[in-house]
Amino acid sequence: MHEVSVVSSLVDAIISELSKYKVLKVNSVTAVVGDLTNLGEEQMAFAYEIVTRGTILEGSEFIIEHEPIVLSCSSCGFEGPAKVLSDPDFGSHSIPVLACPECGGAVKVVKGQTCAVRCMDIEEETRCSSTGTRRLPRRSFKA
Ligand SMILES: [Zn+2]
Repeated sequence: MHEVSVVSSLVDAIISELSKYKVLKVNSVTAVVGDLTNLGEEQMAFAYEIVTRGTILEGSEFIIEHEPIVLSCSSCGFEGPAKVLSDPDFGSHSIPVLACPECGGAVKVVKGQTCAVRCMDIEEETRCSSTGTRRLPRRSFKA
């Protein structure tokens, strides 16, 4: 399962990032997953549960945000979503076409390949020994 290796490198990156803070509890982790990555949301959630077992992340919520596909064409200047083929043989799956919907030319993928952590909600130990919630800014990790 491809998702397990992706999620486990995300989790490794998160844990090393969190080691810089006095983290009491992690409430949630939000990840951005591009529609071109072919990563299944359910499989990722399942992998997250397994990979985080016994770590500071255990029990935290794993939120997945989709990043839609955006293509850019150098021939006609088109920039926008990919045309999607719906094939009844593939059930509910739809296949993005990686060619310009306007002129059929070669395109560059601008968005849709991201797999990164957008933010984390953590509870941190503060100096006056009460707890505070901190929202860490967006960080990107290569997966
Ligand atoms: Zn074009």
